[in-house]
Amino acid sequence: MTKILIVEDEAGLRQGLEINLRHEGYETAVAADGEEAVRVFHAENPDLVLLDLMLPKRSGFEVLDHIRKISKVPVILLTARGQETDKVRGLRGGADDYVTKPFGVQELFARIDAVMRRSEVATATRSICEDHLIRLDPATREASANNQKLKLSPKEFDLLMYLFKNKERVVPRDELLSRVWNYRVDLNLNSRTVDTHVTRLRRKLQKAVGTDSAVIVAVAKIGYRYLGQAPAV
Ligand code: CA
Repeated sequence: MTKILIVEDEAGLRQGLEINLRHEGYETAVAADGEEAVRVFHAENPDLVLLDLMLPKRSGFEVLDHIRKISKVPVILLTARGQETDKVRGLRGGADDYVTKPFGVQELFARIDAVMRRSEVATATRSICEDHLIRLDPATREASANNQKLKLSPKEFDLLMYLFKNKERVVPRDELLSRVWNYRVDLNLNSRTVDTHVTRLRRKLQKAVGTDSAVIVAVAKIGYRYLGQAPAV
């Protein structure tokens, strides 16, 4: 049975979620502040976390940060209307999705289903990506280029993996935003996010492969492509 940890300090909302999720067939665990959230997370080992951001004792961001250091469990943020920067910060911090309060339970169920499905797909496709140049192990999140270990952020790793898996084509920025960042159009973000991460990733790759190399190429006005080779310039 899928166990969901509900982290929410508003008692009414917390209890309402608990009742609705149980009714839908989920097992639940609850926490009313950030410290309790960390404690209950360790004790209950949930399959998914619903995480309010504004919490007493430790903020939702701190809780998310703690969870992401040790686990890839799906996290859905419960955010207040109008807190766009919080949503972005949360997604960048490794949250999988968010719902904006007040939300309907049907929307929440749909988001839980989608996030669980993605997480199951991710688990099912944990094969190592490898060519003569790079090696990515999704199970351990270890990456190397030219047999040198790369220190990649989680998003840089996902980005490189996605480009690698789609190396036969140029991947548009919008696709990267939606598939690697799980961004939704209503967040109103621009593609600078992608560019910034690609720039950082390329710098790390180039350090391992040689400064004159272009492992990932930019295709003007479209996006990026993994070349899988290091052509001398
Ligand atoms: Ca709150």
